[in-house]
Formats: sequence, C-alpha cells, structure tokens
Amino acid sequence: MTASYDVVQVASLGADFDQRLAARYRVLPAWREPRGLAAFGGELQGLRVAVTSVRHGFTQSMFDALPALQAVCSWGVGHDTLDLRAAAARGIGVSVTPDVLDDCVADLAWALMLSAARRTAVGDRYVKTGQWRALGQFPVATKVSSKRLGILGLGRIGEAIARRAAGFDMQVRYHSRSPRPQAPYGYEASLVDLAAWSDFLVVACVGGAATRHLVNAPVIRALGPQGILVNIARGSVVDQAAALAALRSGELGGAGLDVLEQEPTPAVEFAGLDQVSLMPHVGSATRETRAAMAELVLDNVNEFMRSGRLLTPVAAREMQA
Ligand code: NAP
Repeated sequence: MTASYDVVQVASLGADFDQRLAARYRVLPAWREPRGLAAFGGELQGLRVAVTSVRHGFTQSMFDALPALQAVCSWGVGHDTLDLRAAAARGIGVSVTPDVLDDCVADLAWALMLSAARRTAVGDRYVKTGQWRALGQFPVATKVSSKRLGILGLGRIGEAIARRAAGFDMQVRYHSRSPRPQAPYGYEASLVDLAAWSDFLVVACVGGAATRHLVNAPVIRALGPQGILVNIARGSVVDQAAALAALRSGELGGAGLDVLEQEPTPAVEFAGLDQVSLMPHVGSATRETRAAMAELVLDNVNEFMRSGRLLTPVAAREMQA
C-alpha cells in the first residue's frame, strides 16, 4: 500500500505555515491529536518527512513510530529537544533554522545587558507608578560602554552579539570547546577565567546535557559583585539556584535572562530582585524573524522532497555528540 501522506506535522508552526504546507503536500496534522503519533497506525508507515519545532521536540518514540522516516525539519536553531542520537542511528537527516534569527537573539541579549545594567525595566515602573514624584532621584546604575564582554559560545549568535560590542567600545573575549583562530577576539580556555575577566558574561552556547550547569557557582563567583550575567541560550546552561543565591547575597551584581531552568517560571523566585531583567523566552520572537524561520522550514521540506537533501542540516559533529 502506498503512503496516504507525504509529511507528518507533529507541531503547528502557525496558521500561515500550516496552510502553505498543506497546499503543497498531503499533510498528516498529528499535532491536532492529543495522543500524538500513538493515535495513528498504518498512516505512519510510508511517511518520509516530519515537521516539528524546538519547543515540541522529536523523541525516540516518535522516531520509532515512523519506520520510513528520512528527514525531520525543525523550527528553531536549538536541538536540545531533538533526539539526534536516534536520528543518527537510522541515518535520518535533521534540519534546523540557523542564521535567520541571529540578529534578533543578539539584539535581545543587548536589550537585557542594557536593562540589567541601566535598570530600564525598573526605571519604567518608577516613572509609571509615580515613584519619581514621590521618591525623587533614581539610584545610579552600572556603565556599559567601554567595559569587558565575555561570551560563552562564539557561534552564529555569539558572533552577532560580539559584533554589536564594537559600537559600545567594549573588549570581547570568549570561551567554547575549541578556539576559532579567525575570530578577532581573545580565547579563554577556562570559563572561570573568562568570568573573572568579564564585566558582562553572555551565555550563547548550545543547550543540552553537555552544557548543563556550565555556569556554576565558581563561574558566578568569578564574575563577581559588579558582574552581570546574561543568558539567551538555554536555562539549563546556568545553575539557576546558584545564580539566585549569589544575586540575593550580592556575590553577583545582576542578570538579564531570556531563558530559565523552568519555563514558565514561578515568578516568586525573582521577587524583589530589581537587579534582574527577565524576558519570557522570546529571543527570536519578532514578526520578521518568525516569518523567516517558518520560510526556512518550508524551504527544507521542499528541497528534501525535490533532491533528498536538507538545506540547513544539523552539523555532523552535533549529530554524533
Ligand atoms: P552555534 O552557531 O552552533 O553556536 C553554538 C556555540 O556553542 C559554538 O560556539 C560552540 O563552540 C559552543 N559550544 C557547544 N558546546 C559547548 C560546550 N560544551 N562548551 C562550551 N561551548 C560550547 O549556535 P547558535 O545558532 O549561535 O545558537 C546558540 C544557541 O542559542 C542555540 O543552541 C539555542 O539553544 C539558543 N537560542 C536561543 C534563542 C532564544 O529564544 N533565546 C533563540 C535561538 C537560539 P564549540 O563547538 O567550539 O564548543
């Protein structure tokens, strides 16, 4: 029996994307079914392509349910929720949406750096709630320009963050598993040494088991009472309990966090911490970038259907990690 469907969609990527995909292919919209792929039987047998998102992920049991699967096209650049080992074991290609979101995630990293240092979110409340009139002068904050910026993970997004530092006359150094000789920034082989050097430490590396709690208590202590930690990567990279304890005791100066260990977070954890600026995991969430990400998923599906190749596959090194 030939397959009744071309593509299985385990996550909706918005009405516009879903309609365009369905206009071109016979799509099984498995995301509509609360039981997921388990609700389907023979329909899954010949399916070669799956569409998902980094939020929804792609697990071993999803791979197991799709015996003919050849490609997974995911929305988002992170692959910590995609079981790459399971994909590699069966020679299944996995694509993500790199490059198109770098600018927006880097912009948000800077928004958080500036907000944590200059207290823009606190100042906004100060004016709107009448505290300016009641209390007078707003407390002095921390200078950003001409300071030292450390970046954990000088990848696509890390580089975009580093490039923006030129406009702020900042020195930049970075840490990752291996140095990048062509990069015009100094390499620190030790993350603790990078943190000790930095005024601002921005986390921009991959998430997942290998980087879990890379930013731990010693790294946070090295960043110090005047230091500001910014995380736009994944909540799992930072030991959040250690960061919160250091923020409360004054051992860490401030933080700007787009991503947290538990999302959405119980807000009470951050109560009273005006030195922390938070955003609800929205690094790529602009109209322009979200449209570009959806387009790139579609381009990957089209290219795979046409040539059997993916346009933006996860690198072989990451597939084996
Ligand atoms: P990328 O180009 O692959 O860069 C990842 C960087 O992480 C590389 O510099 C890599 O360097 C480093 N790295 C990997 N494993 C490491 C380890 N164990 N220790 C230290 N460094 C390590 O990825 P990207 O496109 O810049 O994206 C980075 C991450 O941003 C994504 O994985 C995602 O989790 C996050 N992100 C967040 C949002 C948001 O909404 N906040 C949006 C998009 C992406 P080496 O290989 O040399 O170690």
